[in-house]
Amino acid sequence: MGRVYNFSAGPAVLPEEVLREAADEMLDYRGTGMSVMEMSHRSKAFEEIITAAEQDLRDLMGIPDNYKVLFLQGGASQQFAMIPMNLMKNRVADYIITGQWAKKAAKEAEKYGKVNRIASSEDKTFSYIPDCSDLPVSEDADYVYICENNTIYGTKFKELPNTKGKTLVADVSSCFLSEPVDVTKYGIIYGGVQKNIGPAGVVIVIIREDLITEDVLPGTPTMLTYKTHADAKSLYNTPPAYGIYICGKVFKWIKAMGGLEAMKERNEKKAKVLYDFLDQSSLFKGTVAKADRSLMNVPFVTGDTELDAKFVKEAKAAGLENLKGHRSVGGMRASIYNAMPYEGVVALVDFMKKFEEENL
Ligand SMILES: *Cc1c(COP(=O)(O)O)cnc(C)c1O
Repeated sequence: MGRVYNFSAGPAVLPEEVLREAADEMLDYRGTGMSVMEMSHRSKAFEEIITAAEQDLRDLMGIPDNYKVLFLQGGASQQFAMIPMNLMKNRVADYIITGQWAKKAAKEAEKYGKVNRIASSEDKTFSYIPDCSDLPVSEDADYVYICENNTIYGTKFKELPNTKGKTLVADVSSCFLSEPVDVTKYGIIYGGVQKNIGPAGVVIVIIREDLITEDVLPGTPTMLTYKTHADAKSLYNTPPAYGIYICGKVFKWIKAMGGLEAMKERNEKKAKVLYDFLDQSSLFKGTVAKADRSLMNVPFVTGDTELDAKFVKEAKAAGLENLKGHRSVGGMRASIYNAMPYEGVVALVDFMKKFEEENL
């Protein structure tokens, strides 16, 4: 059997070209006689890999010189603790709750200080992004936290919140490199790479230099201090070397595709095919406010849980995998990250049309 169209929310589809290249280099990475998995993270070959990866990411996102790029482990979830441990000087932070991931991050931060939930969309099962133009930002808040793209619910901030001068911290796990971004608007941008960039095991943290200090909460482990990793250029201890290598290949792939402007155009084109179909369908419907729709994660339902299950099962048999919605929402979800080809979305819509005809 060949490759399927994989709509998984994460770990998720990677560009086929990248996987082929990695396969070609598996036994002998460019004349080193070994796999990247087998080489020292202090070797010249690996130093070139991590340096190029960082530079390519800087080029893609236009990351200014006063920001560090860190390749860390522990997933996005570990950042839920690392952020307050490093940033909570006043032990106060404001969180905007737009889904399970923001909720978890806020709960974790509560272990370290006072958390103000200054906005939430939980009243309507996180199906929209609240108006964040004039929120009651706390005067002594160390930062304002958002989850920019809500992987489970399928919403995205189209406009960043007005933080009234406070540092913005954003979890971009599921929209990393999906469109151009103005890094200067953030204090920290971070994300697990397994949604839109690479294999699980790497989390990338882009952090403004003034936020990297020794003045962290008492008891903060060395490994959870940003300064440790910034000073050592992500090589304080053994980094997730193979994962970084694949991320580097994906950065080169995005560059070759035309960069983030081109990614945005491609992602908008893909999402439009699916959303346009949902908007006229008499069987399927999207579940979130139109203005807040994500380009990456598209949840939809038929309104009948048995029919939903039938759809997921038959789609799988047709080579369209991982369309089951998150267990907390039900229904279906198509994650159409950077590496999902346009043809994959067209195949999904064609299948939905056929299913609609057969089941109406
Ligand atoms: C998947 C996801 C997480 C959790 O990532 P882990 O790497 O598994 O900890 C956090 N935030 C968002 C937005 C996600 O999509």
